[in-house]
Amino acid sequence: MTKQADLAAILKEAAAWRQDFHRHPETGYDVTRTARRVAELLQQFQCDEVVEGVGQSGVVGVIRGAAHESGKVIGLRADMDALPILEETGAPYASSIEGKMHACGHDGHTAILLGTAKYLAQTRAFNGSVVVIFQPAEEDAAGGKAMLDDGLMERFGIDEVYALHNLPGLPLGHIATRSGPIMGTSDEFVITVSGRGGHPASPHKALDTTMVAAQMLLTLNTIVSRNIDPHAPAALGVTMFSTDSKASNIIAQTVRMEGTIRTLDRTTRQHMKDRTEEIVTGVAQTFGAEAKVIWTAGYPIAENAEPQTSAALDAARQVALAVDDNALPLLQSEDFSYMLEAKPGALVFLGNGASAMLHDPRYDFDDKAIETGVNWFSSLVELRLPAWPAN
Ligand SMILES: [Zn+2]
Ligand SMILES: [Zn+2]
Repeated sequence: MTKQADLAAILKEAAAWRQDFHRHPETGYDVTRTARRVAELLQQFQCDEVVEGVGQSGVVGVIRGAAHESGKVIGLRADMDALPILEETGAPYASSIEGKMHACGHDGHTAILLGTAKYLAQTRAFNGSVVVIFQPAEEDAAGGKAMLDDGLMERFGIDEVYALHNLPGLPLGHIATRSGPIMGTSDEFVITVSGRGGHPASPHKALDTTMVAAQMLLTLNTIVSRNIDPHAPAALGVTMFSTDSKASNIIAQTVRMEGTIRTLDRTTRQHMKDRTEEIVTGVAQTFGAEAKVIWTAGYPIAENAEPQTSAALDAARQVALAVDDNALPLLQSEDFSYMLEAKPGALVFLGNGASAMLHDPRYDFDDKAIETGVNWFSSLVELRLPAWPAN
């Protein structure tokens, strides 16, 4: 006999939590207020365990099913951090902190997972345990990885992990994902070109690094169009270009270029990096300049596993208005990828309707998406941890 939960009441509360988080955005690991509120609510819901300070400021709640002899443990993850953006939504619950806002909808993700936790703690119609994971610093400081480094999977015995990210442009009530790579990996580069300064009226006596770097920039842009299989998604952008020249009559000594490459598979990623190195070295040699590339690896590829993706899709079919099982992967990166490297699982996109794009100062999470999110997480748990074995 399982207990009933008042889902309508939970959804109403979840919208209020969401708007409260929206009004009080916090960034990076500094999510003290949000994390405290999350822990407080999880305790109120009577989770079996609530642990704070995992990976600096992450929060974990454990909910055991009415039966748990299956010994299976499912992790559900939400992110809590906001962005350093000045909000322009004009919403009544707009950010009260100048220069910070929830422009990626993590306020919505946190509210959805809290709503799910409340529902599951009331109904407990599953055999096993659910671990709800609230992470800090998704945007650029790998808070998910910090939680893993703090022993997240081992301490809570997690077997598989799931997460959702809202997606503007995908209609409300829709869920989309696919098996395999779902979000990309990023690698950032800094290229330094050194030559010999001088007077532009006597270019033959100098070594014009600006011209050398410009040739590099154009040639780097041939990698995607000429070296990469047209079927493999890839992007390269040189986004910053600066010289040390202080006047129009001085040839620069050094030029610095920064940019990023985005890919969806390891082979293309390595190929892009190798070609970048070859072009930088080759062009520099052609003109007798010196050049070096320094790489910073971003988040890895987020790869959805089977049969977890099928389960995520089956759960979605039970609750969503429409399900796309062949979603176009995004080249944006997401640090849930570290959890997907550690354990099999799946990330799905949740429709946010016709809102502004993520990271836009006019973006807002749509509270109507909470219902689909809570229903999806809950139905996924009941599907993966059936209360009664099928016969
Ligand atoms: Zn974001
Ligand atoms: Zn995000």
